[in-house]
Amino acid sequence: MNKHFIILLGLFLTGFSLFAQQNKFTKQDTLRGSITPEREWWDLTYYHLDISVLPEEKTIQGKNTVQYKVLQPNTVLQIDLQPPLKITKVVQNNNELQVNSVGNAHFITLIYDQIVGDLNSIEIYYEGKPQEAKNAPWDGGISWIKDENGNHFIASSCQGLGASIWWPNKDHMYDEVDSMLISVNVPKNLINVSNGRLRNVDELDNDTTTYHWFVNNPINNYGVNINIGDYAHFAEIYEGEKGPLNMDYYVLSYNLKKAKTHFQDAPKMMKAFEHWFGPYPFYEDGFKLVEVPYLGMEHQSSVTYGNKYQNGYLGRDISGTGWGLNFDFIIIHESGHEWFANNITYKDMADMWIHESFTAYSENLFLDYYYGKEAAEDYVIGTRKNIRNDIPIIGPYNVNKSGSGDMYYKGANMLHTLRQLIGDDEKWRQILRGLNKTFYHQTVTTQQIEDYLSQQSGYDLTGFFNQYLRDIRIPVLEFSVHNRELKYKWANIVKNFDMPVIIEVGNKEQWIRPNSEWQTKIIPSGKMPIEINRNFYATIKRL
Ligand SMILES: [Zn+2]
Repeated sequence: MNKHFIILLGLFLTGFSLFAQQNKFTKQDTLRGSITPEREWWDLTYYHLDISVLPEEKTIQGKNTVQYKVLQPNTVLQIDLQPPLKITKVVQNNNELQVNSVGNAHFITLIYDQIVGDLNSIEIYYEGKPQEAKNAPWDGGISWIKDENGNHFIASSCQGLGASIWWPNKDHMYDEVDSMLISVNVPKNLINVSNGRLRNVDELDNDTTTYHWFVNNPINNYGVNINIGDYAHFAEIYEGEKGPLNMDYYVLSYNLKKAKTHFQDAPKMMKAFEHWFGPYPFYEDGFKLVEVPYLGMEHQSSVTYGNKYQNGYLGRDISGTGWGLNFDFIIIHESGHEWFANNITYKDMADMWIHESFTAYSENLFLDYYYGKEAAEDYVIGTRKNIRNDIPIIGPYNVNKSGSGDMYYKGANMLHTLRQLIGDDEKWRQILRGLNKTFYHQTVTTQQIEDYLSQQSGYDLTGFFNQYLRDIRIPVLEFSVHNRELKYKWANIVKNFDMPVIIEVGNKEQWIRPNSEWQTKIIPSGKMPIEINRNFYATIKRL
């Protein structure tokens, strides 16, 4: 999920060019979106986020302990936190440190020698009223609402905006913390659900309760979340590829009955995605589905859900084919991100297609598993109506900016086209599983994914990815027929685009390998209709 969905839904239109965007970037964008010298010298190892959430005051207060390994000696360390939240104190080895703030970036001057290889930690105390979400999860922050019974119902969402909207951290995707403890103190009638496993619950004298959740795997910043409400809990054990997996569900108490039926899509999802992508990547942390007051988000091991217990996307089929009404879009899509976003994570937001293209594509693989190949094809091809070809899918680097919303359905159709090129479904499945194994728990670049797919498929896919990820033109297969001679070439293409394609001459299919030069081929008759196989995202034009 990301804010581009709002664009897909047509709720508002933007008409900016890539050039205009680039001109708009500020020093703050660079401090946020690049690996600054004050970030580069240390490697995150552990966070302990320890906070109290005060619903009546809409306030958070507490601290984050940041443990890190020294990679190079340095004296200044960058931590991010967005106003109106304020850092009140930073401490290392019981000494308070000086903080020099530049907007959302806070530069902490260390007084102890930072020796290469040492594990050090600092404590960052903070408090205030975090930005309230205006339109979660796209324009996120904290959602403070009340459920139907008048109980507080609170949730964080921060993709794009960054986790520093609600807690102080190293807010760049390239460096994932290895493990994390999330301790959240709430009024005693409420429950907090975060990522990982519930380690213990402290009931305090002041009518509050602290929930301690431990995440035993690397986690990206925007994946960390708090969800606070009057939750009911149910659970099951799923016998998966790596053995028994805890699947836990937290829903508003009055939705319990509905959820027990509706959430049967969760084990169905697990079965289909383990088949296509390999084992669920976080067995140690379990899998959770947690009800929230907004649509949903791929929070790692605590996928959040707000699709109102309906199939489709809020009851609507994004493909327009009817197939999208056979599953709950949010359960399938957001859980698909456990493989592509949480297991394999982009280093730079420009490469967000790695999350969204594969996950949008996973929707059709879910259908493929339960309803067959033709249904899956109908669905992914149906989603083409959402493609805009406005700006390239890959965005500008080092400024925390994503590319076009086409990363969803153009990306999905690019991957569907790649499946045709590989032409062997079992090989394709092994490539998808191989990606999750090779880049297990890693942050990656587009280049790494491209190289892997080229190596495994046996094709040089450079031109293919340049065309679909870095250009907005859709390839056109131009052709003409004289007697029985078919002449054809690709037009509207980048340099070195030479994708093979299946054409249908009459009702017979055959492969051709066009490039930018005219080629000829003798066909059985010049009077037959000529089409491109529908699974390729390209068009055809008779000259
Ligand atoms: Zn998504």
